[in-house]
Amino acid sequence: MAENRWNDDEAVRHAGDLGLRVYSSRLLGQDSALVLHGGGNTSVKIRETNRVGEEEEILYVKGSGWDLATIEAAGFTPIRMAHLLKLAKLDRLSDLEMVNELKTQQTLASAPTGSVEAILHAVLPFKFVDHTHADVIVTLTNTDGGLERIRAIYGDAVVIIPYVMPGFDLARRVAERFAAEAGAQTIGMVLMNHGIFSFGDTAKASYERMIDLVNRAEGYLKAQGAWDLPEPGTRPAKEASRLELAGLRQAVSQATGSPMLLRAWQGPADLAFAARDDLDRISQQGPATPDHVIRTKPLPQIGRDVAAYAAAYRAYFETHAPQARTPVRMLDPAPRVILDPELGLLTAGKTAKDCAIGADIYRHTMEIIQRAERLGGWRALPEKDLFDMEYWELEQAKLRKGGKSPLFQGEVALVTGAASGIGLACVESLLARGAAVIGLDLNPAIEGLFHRADFLGIPGDITDRDALRAALEQGVRRFGGLDMLILNAGMFPGGKRIAELDDGLWRQVMAVNLDANLALLRESHPLLRLAPNKGRVLVIGSKNVPAPGPGAAAYSASKAALNQLMRVAALEWGADGIRINSLHPDAVFDTGIWTEEVLQARAAHYGLTVEQYKTKNILKTEVRSRDVAELAAEMCGPLFAKTTAAQVPVDGGNDRVI
Ligand code: ZN
Repeated sequence: MAENRWNDDEAVRHAGDLGLRVYSSRLLGQDSALVLHGGGNTSVKIRETNRVGEEEEILYVKGSGWDLATIEAAGFTPIRMAHLLKLAKLDRLSDLEMVNELKTQQTLASAPTGSVEAILHAVLPFKFVDHTHADVIVTLTNTDGGLERIRAIYGDAVVIIPYVMPGFDLARRVAERFAAEAGAQTIGMVLMNHGIFSFGDTAKASYERMIDLVNRAEGYLKAQGAWDLPEPGTRPAKEASRLELAGLRQAVSQATGSPMLLRAWQGPADLAFAARDDLDRISQQGPATPDHVIRTKPLPQIGRDVAAYAAAYRAYFETHAPQARTPVRMLDPAPRVILDPELGLLTAGKTAKDCAIGADIYRHTMEIIQRAERLGGWRALPEKDLFDMEYWELEQAKLRKGGKSPLFQGEVALVTGAASGIGLACVESLLARGAAVIGLDLNPAIEGLFHRADFLGIPGDITDRDALRAALEQGVRRFGGLDMLILNAGMFPGGKRIAELDDGLWRQVMAVNLDANLALLRESHPLLRLAPNKGRVLVIGSKNVPAPGPGAAAYSASKAALNQLMRVAALEWGADGIRINSLHPDAVFDTGIWTEEVLQARAAHYGLTVEQYKTKNILKTEVRSRDVAELAAEMCGPLFAKTTAAQVPVDGGNDRVI
């Protein structure tokens, strides 16, 4: 049951009508069965005196870009009611014209643009209006005989509105029907295939009516034996699928025209739903509510091999999106949800957060579909309405306003030795440019290094082949593929002359600095070949490659061999479009091994101050981890699009290298 979260002691802390509007909007937003990811909207009508002393009624309606769960007073847009009510009487108003009216009739210039449902809120003659796309309501209104069921549940307590796409036409339809049908008994309104409204003279009354209406619907589902979901069972997910996933991601990226992330969700309920016999029928209808339309397009089972996936995906894209090839960049229509009986639920998005939101919305949709199937059969919106929604001009305008996307949006980088020093700085530089990053490190702290959707920290030893393969598998399941590889992990044993250098230490240095990188290159190559913007590899080398030092035989030899490996890879992989370059840093002191004491000792050894020691190069400048990382990231970008096998020093200038 939807929980009534209203608390009088809490409520009194929110002053005035707008304060209470904020309070109860958050209560709605915090219940995911009512409101999901920015869905739903609320309003309050308040009388105010304007700058020239006139009293006017103002609609405070949720502004675009705000989420009900976290909304503040500043998230409500004040718009003149008198004008909104006149607009509602027009015969027609295009959606762009409507947005212009909303924008020019707001009384606070800095407020966000009001919700596209603002006129709809204005025409409902109540002080407080609450609107959600509650799961139980979209379940009922997308079921066979939905209208009759809604009538049976609510009688004349709600006005029922057949489906109309959100925008001006819906507001006008509501104004007409509400005036004709509402009475003293009316406490809400149901929009078929869309959601529900409640209203009242106080914030509390409107909120509690929403809870009551939603709970009556849930009670109906339970009474009809349609509430309990099928047992998901315990089917295991398919193993070793990283190439299939990367191939599918390449097809998704090609269809949308830019790199996309792809995440595999393989919980028992995901796998069970994706394996349903009737998947083609139930998954190929419209979404539960227009609010979700952009992200929920399931692709049915299409066989196991990558080529078949790519072909089916492209076919789907072609038939659903002929407009996408016009010069104006249209709202990207490619499916965001892919269902595969063995791989489970897959979500595509430009960011890791979008993939997570897509899964969240589709998991709700799976429950809605399954309950509707138990009730009387899932009947979502016809394709025509869907298409209108996707291409309606507001969405188009939003997209055109989008601006420049980050350099590596939709791309995936893997960094070794990512928990500290240059590796950590590389992670930060790549994240800052919009990449999703997989960080590998021996240090278990890597797992909790960043708490963000676009970072995956995996602890493990890169010299362990099985661990390496498992890490790639895990990374690809999370983000869909691999575009960039930063070979950074390495070890620098203390100074030891050749006369004292034993085989064990030599082998250990070679295993970490050379052999592990060979294995990682070999395992990554098939994934890099599938990178939508072509694969890139960046090797963190060393000044010791061109200018070795005494006492560092194993280190210098391993880095020189790695450098030669880089050059051969450039020759072998050029035909796949994969670029591989290396950086040769020197004297980077802001890393874990260089404590203040060690620095002081080394400086004293040369008769220098720490400052002089740090800037002991031609340019007299200190080279920091961040300097190396920024260059590494840029070398993976378009600036170096035509460069491979380059070796770039990042050492402040060294007379032995020059
Ligand atoms: Zn809505």
